Order: sequence, then C-alpha cells, then structure tokens
Amino acid sequence: MTTEIINSNDKKSMQRAAELIKDGQIVAFPTETVYGLAANAYDESAVSKIFEAKGRPSDNPLIVHIENIGMLDDIAVGVPDDFYMLYEKFMPGPLTVILHKNTKICKAVTAGLDTVAVRFPRHRTAAELIKKSGCPLAAPSANLSEHVSPTTASHVFDDLNGRIPMIIDGGECSVGIESTVLDMSGDNPVILRPGAITYDMIRKVIGGVSEPKKDCKAVGFPAKSPGMKYRHYSPRVKLTLVKAADAAAALYDDAYNEGKRAVIISRASSVASLGGRNVFSIPDDPKGYAKKIYALLRLAEETADLIICEEPDSSGAGNSIINRLQKAAH
Ligand code: AMP
Ligand code: MG
Repeated sequence: MTTEIINSNDKKSMQRAAELIKDGQIVAFPTETVYGLAANAYDESAVSKIFEAKGRPSDNPLIVHIENIGMLDDIAVGVPDDFYMLYEKFMPGPLTVILHKNTKICKAVTAGLDTVAVRFPRHRTAAELIKKSGCPLAAPSANLSEHVSPTTASHVFDDLNGRIPMIIDGGECSVGIESTVLDMSGDNPVILRPGAITYDMIRKVIGGVSEPKKDCKAVGFPAKSPGMKYRHYSPRVKLTLVKAADAAAALYDDAYNEGKRAVIISRASSVASLGGRNVFSIPDDPKGYAKKIYALLRLAEETADLIICEEPDSSGAGNSIINRLQKAAH
C-alpha cells in the first residue's frame, strides 16, 4: 500500500480523507495532543485495521473522538452532571473522559469493556474530518505500538509508511503529549493518565477526584485502564532520566569512555554547563517541554545508543511529562 500525505488546508484532499473513512479505511490526522489514526467508531472491520496497522494488542481500547456534544448520545449512557461541568470548562480540549458505553459503539473500540473513552479535540482539522466523515472517529496515537507518539506528519510516515493509505499533515501538534484520561464511570472520578488538563484544574471544577496510581500492578489487575499495563512511548534505544545536568554529564562521560554514542536532552537553562557534549536543548517551561519532547526522542534515537534526558520541573503539566518519560525509560 502506498501512503499519501495530504495538506490539511486542501479542501478536496480533506474530502477524499473523509471518503476513505466512510469507505471503512483508516486515516492519520492531527490533533492538538498527538497525531491519531482514525476509523469509523461504528465499523468493526474498519476499527480492526487500526490494531493491525499499529500492531496494537486487541485488549487496549481506543478513544472515540467527537466534534459536537450532540454526538455523545449515541456513544455513552448515564452521563453524570459533573461531566457537563468539565465539558463547559475544558472542551474542546486535551481531556478524555471514560463513561458507560452505548451499545452502538463496536466491541473492538472498547476492547470488550462496558465503558468508552470520549474526547472532543480542539484541533480544527480533527473537527473537520469528523464532521465530513459523519461519524465519531475511534483513534489511538498514530505510531507503531509501544513507540513514541507522533507530533508531526513525518513521524507518522516514519512508523506507518506502507501500512495506511493516508496521512493528513496539519503541522506540529501544539500540546505534544497525549490527553488526560479521567474515569467518570465509577462512584468517584479518577485520573487514569495525567496530561495537560491537570489534577488541580479538574479538582477546581468538580471537587473530588483521585490522582493517578503510579503503577497498575499496585492497583491490581485487570488494570482499570488497559493501556497502563503496556510499555509505552519508548524510543528504540536506551533512555535514562536524570533530575539535574551534573548527573547527565557524568552518565554521558561514562558512556563516551565506553565508546557509546550518547545524546543529552537538556533543559535550555542547563545547556551551557554541558559544553563539548552532544546536547539537544528543550525549553524549561513544561508547556514548551511537552511540545518538543517526543520529536527530540525520535531524533535522538536516530543517532545515539543512549539518550540521557533531564526531567522537566514537576509543576503544572510537568508531572504528566515525567509520567510519560518514566514509562518510556528502560
Ligand atoms: P492512546 O490513544 O494510544 O494514547 O491510548 C488511549 C488510552 O485510553 C489508553 O491508555 C487506553 O487504555 C485508554 N482507554 C481507552 N478506552 C478506555 C476505557 N474504556 N477504559 C479505560 N481506559 C481506556
Ligand atoms: Mg498511544
């Protein structure tokens, strides 16, 4: 299969993308978080193509994307009032909510669970594709399973060239890490995956909410969010996390002495102290850090045997980035 890359500003090509979706095919598209790989959420055979193209385990469910709140009725039942408070405040935006599913959503999407993950993306191209396709889109991130999520069309191409018919290029994703996942299907809301919409932001709107558990093994199987049990977001070479630049320098120098090629992903404020080493600079502020981290991990794995990454500050969305990096580290 040849993989065509189209421009999101080209109306005719966008129409062809929607025709592919209607025809039961899969299409990669930009969202504000990361690029997604979409299929009609009502079409079992189309959804199965996503799992095949990514090599994704069939027990890891997908997020259903909508472009207006009216679409929710066909997707979820028994939606709690608190959901609408979050909707008012954060949607469209990088927040996914787990609700009880409507039986119209096919089994493959929810991996047989009786709950469904719903997201209302803010990206104009995502909204346009959903609208033109005339159905909710089931979509995980558009990378090979376990690899780093894509934040540009060329990242998607690197992973899925020849495995999918089309990629919509909408430029670089503005958020850069996956959405916050909030489970509202039980008695108390629980954050299953942290993200740009933080614990504090959610708590201010709905009060009681529990923070994410560090490790699904600690909460016991089956994991509430099946994705939590898989290794995720990993570059193809060893990744080691450090809290400060001096530790990065020491690890780098050891690797150098052993004849290994190392790269340091360093906060911009630390770069000056790492002179003479192979360094990729990343913004200090969590927002700027989140936007660049996946692109830099992908770039670093091309040339290095070891990636040494200086963690962001844990304030704001920093915690969510550290969560991803810890899952990615070997
Ligand atoms: P991805 O889009 O690849 O970043 O993955 C979507 C995430 O949402 C994974 O961690 C899934 O396990 C999680 N997820 C999707 N649907 C559900 C659900 N019904 N219940 C719990 N977690 C879900
Ligand atoms: Mg993913």
